[in-house]
Amino acid sequence: MHELSLSSAIVNTVVKHAAGRPVTVVSMRVGALRQVVPDTLDFYFGFVAEGTVCEGARLEQELVAARLRCAGCEREWEIDVPVFMCPDCGPSGRVEVAAGDEFEVESIEVEEAECIAPR
Ligand SMILES: [Zn+2]
Repeated sequence: MHELSLSSAIVNTVVKHAAGRPVTVVSMRVGALRQVVPDTLDFYFGFVAEGTVCEGARLEQELVAARLRCAGCEREWEIDVPVFMCPDCGPSGRVEVAAGDEFEVESIEVEEAECIAPR
């Protein structure tokens, strides 16, 4: 059910930035580490959007692959299954998530055909 709370977060963000204008498209960047099911997110978005300026808006989801970076050698690599160990430094390396935990509204389109970046 975590897609339901994520959908609420999206709608809240978009409503704030749309300033009363009807929204037609919401573009998202969703990191792979978020483990979001796109169809489920889409479904709940439609549900939560009802009665708001987001009602009827299309939700576009761009999946961002998970990447890790080693603090020791700055090597960065993509992962399918999170294994938090640098291929070069091994267990001694200190690694951090470089990408993949995104969950952000990239842009929205409102009926005046404007494009607004919420950042
Ligand atoms: Zn390393």
